[in-house]
Amino acid sequence: MISIATTLINFSYIQLLNFLFKDNQISYFFSEKGILRYFENPICEGCKSVMGLNGYNTVTKRNIASIKVGKYVCPSCGNIHHTDIKFWIEQKSLISQVVGKILMYLKNGGCGFRRMEIISQFILPFGKTSLFNQFKKIVEFMEYMTPEHIGELIILNFDEQYIKICGKWRYRLTLLNYNTRLPIAEKVVKELTNEVIMNFIKSNFDPTPYKTIYVVTDLKPSYNDIFKSLFGEKLIHQYCLFHLYQLILDEFPKSSSLSELLLQYRLLNIFYNYDAEIIQLEKLVYEEKNIADKDKKDLKSWTKSKKKELYAYFAGFRTDNSNPLRDPIEAYCQLLKVFESFEEMPSNIQKRIIMIDDSILNFLAYRAIPEAPSTNNAIEGYFSKTINPILKKQMKTIKGTETSIKSYAIERLEKYQNKKGLNLDSKPISLIELILPLRLLGNPI
Ligand SMILES: [Zn+2]
Repeated sequence: MISIATTLINFSYIQLLNFLFKDNQISYFFSEKGILRYFENPICEGCKSVMGLNGYNTVTKRNIASIKVGKYVCPSCGNIHHTDIKFWIEQKSLISQVVGKILMYLKNGGCGFRRMEIISQFILPFGKTSLFNQFKKIVEFMEYMTPEHIGELIILNFDEQYIKICGKWRYRLTLLNYNTRLPIAEKVVKELTNEVIMNFIKSNFDPTPYKTIYVVTDLKPSYNDIFKSLFGEKLIHQYCLFHLYQLILDEFPKSSSLSELLLQYRLLNIFYNYDAEIIQLEKLVYEEKNIADKDKKDLKSWTKSKKKELYAYFAGFRTDNSNPLRDPIEAYCQLLKVFESFEEMPSNIQKRIIMIDDSILNFLAYRAIPEAPSTNNAIEGYFSKTINPILKKQMKTIKGTETSIKSYAIERLEKYQNKKGLNLDSKPISLIELILPLRLLGNPI
């Protein structure tokens, strides 16, 4: 049992001291000289005699406090014993953890170590190197979250991101748990080969507990082989429709004619519903044909102004900037419809349509799982938040980049846990609550 004798002046500090000793079984007291001693002199472990007082040692935690720790000596065998200060050591480690977290949040906001050093002078002074080491320690200590095994289905997003580190292109690999939007693993690699990707997934994700593994990737042809060989029959592989749409848009020049724009929308209309846009375009293309016989210059400015009107009109009724995803059978019918005028299309568009047709099962994989994503937007959103321009400047080595990336993942994990009520101590302990009891016990320095 802990009893704390107080004077009226320090009565209000009991709460703080209680926290410090809450798990302690040992009875202490402070001697008149301010030395921390046991209530009763200890028994010598060697010869079982009662030990005698023998001065003290000073234990110091820089910038926080120092404490005089009682020393004992055995009168018979000369054994030396010090007052056990486990509580002090534990508190010190809590302080380091909190400082580490403050640093992590500052770093994720793009703060450099030089700036952190300045800020730390107002909280708890640390040098740049020691700040850097504490940040590294906290990041290394934390783990990426392995997905909880809920049911037999898991939805994964996989993507790679090009990052320039010291003038060289490197690749960031990310495997994201779609349901939690938390990364399962991330790695930065020098080379991007099938083998590197396979090893990355294999060593970070265990497919055993799942019956179905739904994976969204971009359209790189090798991904299909990679994931097929990793997950076999369990795999449902969705190619990101957003990436496909980027490719479709790239097939058309910016200064396209309205007939070209109509063709573009017919392709876009396969997976998402652009019926309303197409009706408008068809009307204008009819007018365009009449003008085309006249002056080319006229046509150019006419097209320009019509397009402007058109986009404003589209934006007016697609206020949420989204078009409904089509039911898979409907989408397939739209593809067949596009095929009807295949012969009249330019060769690059024909190639694109053949490519869509060849991989149609991967583009429509979303039909297999209700609410499954048809794009990799979850991971794109994650990328855009984790590497902001300020953080990019701090990326000088592969290891450092991985630390930065992981540090953000930890922040996201904490937010997620707080939101879900998974964090046991929902309210973080403040530094002052941790430091004050030590200051009360020791001499502030
Ligand atoms: Zn002894």
